[in-house]
Amino acid sequence: MTLEPGLYVAATPIGNLKDVTYRVIETLKAADRIYCEDTRQTAKLCAAYGIETPRAAYHEHNADRVEAEIIAALKDGAAICLVSDAGTPLISDPGYRLVRAARAAGVKIIPLPGPCAAIAALSAAGAPTERFFFAGFPPPKAEARATFFKSLAAVDATLVFYEGPSRLAESLGAMAAAFGARRAVVARELTKIFEEFDEGALGDLAEKYKAHPPRGEIVVIVEPPPAAAQASETEIDAFLLAALDKMSVKDAAAAAADALGVARKIAYERALSLKKPR
Ligand code: SAM
Repeated sequence: MTLEPGLYVAATPIGNLKDVTYRVIETLKAADRIYCEDTRQTAKLCAAYGIETPRAAYHEHNADRVEAEIIAALKDGAAICLVSDAGTPLISDPGYRLVRAARAAGVKIIPLPGPCAAIAALSAAGAPTERFFFAGFPPPKAEARATFFKSLAAVDATLVFYEGPSRLAESLGAMAAAFGARRAVVARELTKIFEEFDEGALGDLAEKYKAHPPRGEIVVIVEPPPAAAQASETEIDAFLLAALDKMSVKDAAAAAADALGVARKIAYERALSLKKPR
């Protein structure tokens, strides 16, 4: 098969090696070169499908140097594939700069769609999907993470995060403080032997994973804030009680106003009365 020149952005499996399209395999075989986030990781896919195309590394540490080399080859008429270790390149993975530079250089860019952990998790979590917000990895440090979640509290969409197992419990706890008692789903080890979907209120999930630290790769799906008109007194109280554990009355009221669409004054008065007996 002869390929049209261009940059092929190819999605690869996120666990199960069978989750790869015919088109991706054909293209990887026919390309002049495959640029990989980690050549050893891509070697496993190539070995499974008899792909012998030369491979080279393209990752965040060599991007400055290698980018010019790739663009020059593309301008010369090469067919080049870009893959990451797993899933769709550019989605919390390297490639954005390269695609942008290739586009600026007038090179044809061809997406080869396939696995993406965020989409796989969404497709099975049972959360609303008419609008979702992919937020990637939360910042690792507590303060930046709290600010990050706070900035997302009023987003009227299902939220999708990537997270590592060692930070999951802390992240879920910080999400509970920012988002209240929303339903969430922890999707773990998708397409692999120990695939698991675990759903519950954010605070409950935080407690559970604090007691039993998980293993493997994780996507967290958080349902949208309840609509303002529909936020019941019980929901508002649950949100405020969780928030009051972590912040002042004023901040808890502001967070409730952002997350649930309650009037700030009402949220403040309610937060004050909930705080008093403690
Ligand atoms: N580009 C990839 C994609 O399309 O999903 C994501 C790459 S990002 C560096 C890796 C993160 O994706 C992991 O830390 C985890 O949060 C998520 N992830 C990747 N594979 C996964 C899997 N099999 N199950 C659950 N989450 C996964």
